[in-house]
Amino acid sequence: DRVLIGNKVSEGHVNFTIAYNMLTGIRVAVSRCSGIMKPLTPRDFRLTKKLAFDFHGNELTPSSQYAFKFKDYCPEVFRELRALFGLDPADYLMSLTSKYILSELNSPGKSGSFFYFSRDYKYIIKTIHHAEHQHLRRTLKEYYSHVKENPNTLISQFYGLHRVKMPISFKSKIKHRKIYFLVMNNLFPPHLEVHTTFDLKGSTWGRYTKVNDSPQAQEGDAHRPVLKDLNWLQEQRSIQFGPLKKKKFLQQLEKDVDLLARLNIMDYSLLLGIHDVERGNDLIDEHNMLTMYSPDQNELQEVKRKSMAEQQARQKSTMAVQHFFQQDEGGIRASDQFNNDLNKIYYIGIIDCLTNYSCVKKLETFWRGLSHDLKVISAVPPRDYGDRFYEFMASSVNRIPSKRYKDDPNAVE
Ligand code: ATP
Ligand code: CA
Ligand code: CA
Repeated sequence: DRVLIGNKVSEGHVNFTIAYNMLTGIRVAVSRCSGIMKPLTPRDFRLTKKLAFDFHGNELTPSSQYAFKFKDYCPEVFRELRALFGLDPADYLMSLTSKYILSELNSPGKSGSFFYFSRDYKYIIKTIHHAEHQHLRRTLKEYYSHVKENPNTLISQFYGLHRVKMPISFKSKIKHRKIYFLVMNNLFPPHLEVHTTFDLKGSTWGRYTKVNDSPQAQEGDAHRPVLKDLNWLQEQRSIQFGPLKKKKFLQQLEKDVDLLARLNIMDYSLLLGIHDVERGNDLIDEHNMLTMYSPDQNELQEVKRKSMAEQQARQKSTMAVQHFFQQDEGGIRASDQFNNDLNKIYYIGIIDCLTNYSCVKKLETFWRGLSHDLKVISAVPPRDYGDRFYEFMASSVNRIPSKRYKDDPNAVE
């Protein structure tokens, strides 16, 4: 498990064709979906649109380098979701398709999903399994209502659900493969370095990341591991929020977890990135930008210039409706018991929330339940999972340090 820092996917890369097709499909489908927004109807939650691409192009689709089919799910619903999340339609298209370069995560997770970043690092494309895609479609109505009623939801922001169908050669045979994917928010900022990352589930079973102390590991994000529940407990970490932020955070978390339990979802995590203001940002300038985007100095300058311009734009648009947990540089500042700012910015969200309990987990609960305490394992029914998740996070806000660590200022986050 590594922090998401990718390799550039450009021509010649094994997955270039897949990435190219995904982006071409999004560009055409999303730009097609314009005109006045009408109130959504039940039909919009079922609607799909298909596009066929080939080298010649036709009146519906422009010519494309490769032949493939593209399917867009519930375009009007996602368009409205993007608006609810405050995305500008032109910006969205630009970010995803201005140049056909994405970066791909080095090591995909256990699930076999692939992650791609948009060039400006704002969006993540995640390939998902058919069952996850199905579950999202089935529950899209509830998700949509929840977002509408909870503008500050911590649950992943979904911006688009699509499918690409394309020929892929496998053992010298050509097979048509269907690849489902989601566009969602990158919780982490393009312009600030995240120094520490935790992926927390509230379970302890297998939830430890071995930390590598080698000099290479200290060097930069590319080698920095994502830490888990046992690391969190061992290091006596806590989320430092004063009473105001704590209340907002736990209230929202409770509502979000309740939705996920109702939708029969489990196995999600609280992703928490910590930017240490005092440590600043030197690595991201020199090291990360290079690996993330390109070794080309001109491009690097362009990326830096853009992120400066965005920062200024952000400062100007403080009048716009702000997501509570993205109010400071795209995250939220830690605060003390008097609600005064501390020198840390948290990037928080609930991720990986499309695993339906009934699909995979029942068997796992059975087998593991035989030999382990149900409290510590990760596969428990959604309601139990949610309660345990909430309790863990609630007890992690302003944890009172145990005696042993009390005098060591470094021991407490
Ligand atoms: P598994 O099912 O094995 O847990 P997965 O392939 O479903 O893996 P996720 O759990 O969704 O993958 O994500 C894996 C890692 O990718 C996370 O721990 C986190 O570091 C990073 N990640 C996922 N989603 C986001 C996001 N929206 N913003 C930033 N980082 C993310
Ligand atoms: Ca996960
Ligand atoms: Ca998963």
